[in-house]
Amino acid sequence: MQSHDPVYGSPAPAARDPLDQDLPIASEARTAAAIRGGALPRMPKPARRRVMVVANQKGGVGKTTTTVNLAAALAMHGLKVLVIDLDPQGNASTALGVPHHSGVMSTYELLVDGAGIKECVQEVEGLPGLSCVPATIDLAGAEIELVSLVARESRLLKAIESYTEDLDYVLIDCPPSLGLLTINALVASREVLIPIQCEYYALEGLGQLLRNVDMVKAHLNPELNVSTILLTMYDSRTRLAQQVAEEVRSHFGDIVLRTAVPRSVRISEAPSYGQTVMTYDPGSAGALTYLEAAREIAAAGAI
Ligand code: ADP
Ligand code: MG
Repeated sequence: MQSHDPVYGSPAPAARDPLDQDLPIASEARTAAAIRGGALPRMPKPARRRVMVVANQKGGVGKTTTTVNLAAALAMHGLKVLVIDLDPQGNASTALGVPHHSGVMSTYELLVDGAGIKECVQEVEGLPGLSCVPATIDLAGAEIELVSLVARESRLLKAIESYTEDLDYVLIDCPPSLGLLTINALVASREVLIPIQCEYYALEGLGQLLRNVDMVKAHLNPELNVSTILLTMYDSRTRLAQQVAEEVRSHFGDIVLRTAVPRSVRISEAPSYGQTVMTYDPGSAGALTYLEAAREIAAAGAI
């Protein structure tokens, strides 16, 4: 029934389309529809190429998941992004659907043979603007082979610097260790992004990582800073996750993204289809939070 406004005497406004209302679910639905339709607004281009290393020597905290999904989200918004897979397990290459069997030009050739990124890079299918240098199992030997090579800590830096292609973001996915592969990534980057899993022991080992960052900063790369921390596998129903999040936020302050990535089955399913969750299920909570995290990172701009 059309009601009459008792104060002003005029008819109350007709109910609006639910998607026009400012409800979180409506804006999420709009975003999902936009992702599906490929009609996303552009994210701001950084003033200069941002090279970010995604590091945490703990395994299974969401480094690879974060690398590929942020990279996809940034590329979907019109930015040019390169993922460098620096983990011999090649999980980032798998998630991006990039061939990485033995014999494919990869980060091994880049680091050990001094090959250029141009010779190793592959376009990621279905995600224009996104490319990847894959990792093959050969990389497992690189940690040892690098020891006897000249400028062993700065070989990745050299490769990235001599790749003059127009790039907005370079995201480097690290192995779960602090060896020469991770050191190469720290030397090649200006920003460190640390994913922290909202679990017990989440902060254990973080001190060691931060000391390594400081050491590289002091001796090899004065421009290095921890710019971003992302809480992953956050389950808002558990007190533990909330406690970890609070502790991380009180310790690290502003560099912790407001967006925390929830635990999501869709996120963990995506790699088995050679996809990121951004393309596998763009409307899922996981995809929407990675999109939001990418937006925060892009908005923060280069530091
Ligand atoms: P890392 O690279 O640090 O070892 P991964 O990104 O490979 O960690 O994640 C470890 C495992 O957890 C993978 O099986 C991945 O699919 C899963 N995973 C990562 N993030 C989430 C999430 N938000 N929700 C559910 N599963 C996740
Ligand atoms: Mg990984």
